[in-house]
Amino acid sequence: MTNETWLNETLYAEWGQRFLVKRELAHVKSDFQDIRIIESHLHGRVMFLDGVVQITEADEFVYQEMLAHVPLLAHGDAKRVLIIGAGDGGVLRRVLQHRTVDKAVMVEIDGEVIRLAKEHLPAIGGDAWTDPRATVIVGDGIDHVRQAAPGSYDVIIVDSTDPIGVGEVLFTDEFYANCSRILTERGLVVNQCGVPFMQAEELRETSLRRAKFFPDVFAYVAAVPTYVGGFMTLGWAAKDAGCRHVDVAEIRRRADVAGVLDTTRYWTPEIHVGAFNLPPYIGMHLPRG
Ligand code: SAM
Repeated sequence: MTNETWLNETLYAEWGQRFLVKRELAHVKSDFQDIRIIESHLHGRVMFLDGVVQITEADEFVYQEMLAHVPLLAHGDAKRVLIIGAGDGGVLRRVLQHRTVDKAVMVEIDGEVIRLAKEHLPAIGGDAWTDPRATVIVGDGIDHVRQAAPGSYDVIIVDSTDPIGVGEVLFTDEFYANCSRILTERGLVVNQCGVPFMQAEELRETSLRRAKFFPDVFAYVAAVPTYVGGFMTLGWAAKDAGCRHVDVAEIRRRADVAGVLDTTRYWTPEIHVGAFNLPPYIGMHLPRG
């Protein structure tokens, strides 16, 4: 791409955002997707996969903090964590901020995403890549959940692309059945579930699927400016409904013990609890319990 030209996101055919490109840092066709990283004027570096914005340096903190801190602190004793996708390293970094976590396994299908993120977005993964508690596997998340032993993980975090292409398998019955099998007794899984103002079907259909395998299915919200269309939903499926109803004081206490209190820019104990209060236009897409 030529410097100082506009790059359009191609997520929706009829609506979109665009970035004025300061310079292009990488543009690679991997075995799985088209990967582009640019330097922008207002959002720092931005990574696109198949023309869709995945992460910007300016607002990644919103998404990563909510995807990592909410499930870990809701669970309250998460020692073994599985992360699927998330090749930029941001979720891995937030998970390993919790000194209470013993082991984080990350399974990303595209080694090129990891390589390019380390080279061009080094602050996002930070020291997490070399943390001795981290195991990074290049492979398909569906294969990992098929093969993992029962009760292997306390929390599963799915930071995937949308349910098209390689990400599609991570939204299936088979995937959620295996998540339930490989989670411990009080285990829970969260996932990137789209922007319901534009992608309500994604939330509706995957919630119905999760409800076949988990007694407590819900969603919580985060406002990520560059995922256009208002709130993004993070899907929630838990074996123990109690994990969703922990009060602010207890969440604050757990965050303090974990070492994440006052380290965040979006997540707070109050936002954690409040994020489960859904506007009706979002809540209407969840199965009635
Ligand atoms: N935060 C971004 C968002 O919400 O738009 C998504 C992060 S992006 C790094 C998602 C990652 O999921 C991609 O790197 C992609 O390669 C990976 N991915 C997609 N399908 C996968 C699969 N079946 N197994 C493992 N990783 C997968």
